[in-house]
Amino acid sequence: MKKFDVIVLGAGIVGVCTCLHLQLRGYHVCLVDKKDAGQGTSYGNAGLIERSSVIPYHFPREFSRLIAYAFNHQTDVRFDWTYLPHIAPWLFKFWCQSSPKNLKKSTLALLPLIENSVKEHDFLAELAGATSFIEPKGWLEIFRTDKDFDKAKNHLLSLERFHLNYDVLDRNALIQRVPSISPQLVGGIHWLDPKTVNDPGGLTAAYARYFIKQGGSFVTLDALKTEYNNGLWQINDNGISIGAPDIVVALGPQSIQFMNKFGYRHIPFAVKRGYHIHFRQVDEKTVLEHSICDPVAGFVLAPMRQGIRLTTGIEFASPKAPPYWTQLKRAEKIAKNIFPLGEYVETKPWLGERPCLSDMRPIIGKAPAHKGLWLNFGHAHHGLTLGAVSGKLLAEIMAGEQPLTSPDAFSLTRF
Ligand SMILES: Cc1cc2nc3c(=O)[nH]c(=O)nc-3n(C[C@H](O)[C@H](O)[C@H](O)COP(=O)(O)OP(=O)(O)OC[C@H]3O[C@@H](n4cnc5c(N)ncnc54)[C@H](O)[C@@H]3O)c2cc1C
Repeated sequence: MKKFDVIVLGAGIVGVCTCLHLQLRGYHVCLVDKKDAGQGTSYGNAGLIERSSVIPYHFPREFSRLIAYAFNHQTDVRFDWTYLPHIAPWLFKFWCQSSPKNLKKSTLALLPLIENSVKEHDFLAELAGATSFIEPKGWLEIFRTDKDFDKAKNHLLSLERFHLNYDVLDRNALIQRVPSISPQLVGGIHWLDPKTVNDPGGLTAAYARYFIKQGGSFVTLDALKTEYNNGLWQINDNGISIGAPDIVVALGPQSIQFMNKFGYRHIPFAVKRGYHIHFRQVDEKTVLEHSICDPVAGFVLAPMRQGIRLTTGIEFASPKAPPYWTQLKRAEKIAKNIFPLGEYVETKPWLGERPCLSDMRPIIGKAPAHKGLWLNFGHAHHGLTLGAVSGKLLAEIMAGEQPLTSPDAFSLTRF
C-alpha cells in the first residue's frame, strides 16, 4: 500500500484547489478521481468567478413567481413532476432557509469567501501558470423589459453596503459595450468585480497538472470503495492500494453517496441540474467579448475556448433521468434574439449537477463521527467561484492555522 498524509476524493475545482493548498502546507497528498481532472460539474459551468453574487441563490418568495413555476412555464427553473415527491421535503427546507432572516445569515457567512474568490483564483492561477484562463472583464446582466431593468436598478440600492463596482448601461451604452447585441434590449448592468474563465474544465486540469508537477499524486480509483480500518483511510481498487490518516470528500454532486456509506444520512442535500451547449460564431466579425446573463430566463452566454456556451438555469429532475432539451431550447430561442448564434458545436447538450445544501452554504470542515474525515462539498451555483477560497479554508482548518473566516457556519454539525 502506498501511504500519504491526505487523500483528496474528487478532482473537480474544489478537490484540486484543496490539494494545492494542502501541498503548499507541506502535506504529501494523493488526489483520486474516476475520470481526468475537471471533467465533472467543473467542466461545464458558465465560467463566472462571481465576486458580485453576494446574496446566495435562494428560493423565490414572491407568490407570482411561485405560481409561474408551478405551471412550469419559466425558463430559469424546470420541474420534472415525477421527481417532485422525492425533492419536495428538500424544497421545503430550501424555502424555509430562504426566509429573510436565514438568507441574511447565509449571506454574511459566505461574504468573506465571496470577497476573496477572485483574489484566491488569481493566486493559484499565477502559481500554476494558468493566468490565460482567467479574464478581467466582468460580466453583463441584460434586461428585455423596462419593468425588469427598473427592478434591478432598485435592487442595487440594497447592495450598496457591499461596495460592488458596476456600470448601469442604457440601451446605447449597452450596444457600445457589446456590439452585435440586440437593440431591443432596454439596458444592462456591467458587473466589474468578477472575472471570467474561458474554459473552467481546462483551468481545473491546469491546477491539477501543477499539483502533480510539484510532487502530488493523482490516481484513477472509485472513491466509493474507500474503507476505514484502524485509523487509516484506504482504497483498494484496480490493483492499486492507497492509504492515509486523513481524507477529504470533494466529490461534488456525488459526495452524498460517500456520506451515506459512512452513516451520515441526515444531510439536506440535493442536486440542481443544468445544461450547456456551444454555438459557433455566425461570422468572424460577430465576436462575443463578454459573458452575458439574462436573469429572468436564467441563462448565461459565455465566450469559451470551445465556442459560445449557453448555460441554463435549474432543473429539478432525478440525477438518473435522461437529459431533457426543453429548458435549453427555451433558453436558446431567447438567446438568439439577444445575440447572433451560429450552428451547434456538439450534437448533444452537456448535463451537470450543482451540489446544493438547503441553507445555500457548502460543508467545509470535519465530520463529527470519524477521525480524519474532512469535507468540502455543496458549493451549489458557485463552486467555481468558491473553489480556490474554500480549498484554502479547509487546508487552514486541517493545518490548525488561523482560518480566513470562522468555519462554524460551514460545519456539518449545523444540521
Ligand atoms: C449549468 C451550470 C452553470 C454553472 N455556472 C457557474 C458559474 O458561472 N460560476 C460558478 O462559480 N459556479 C457555476 N456552477 C456551479 C459549479 O460548476 C459547481 O458548483 C462546481 O463545479 C462544483 O465543483 P466540485 O469540485 O464540487 O464538483 P465536480 O466538479 O463535480 O467534481 C467532483 C469530482 O468527483 C468525481 N467523482 C464523483 N464520484 C466519484 C467516485 N465514485 N470515484 C471517484 N471520483 C468520483 C467526479 O468525476 C468529479 O471530477 C454552474 C453549474 C452548472 C451546472
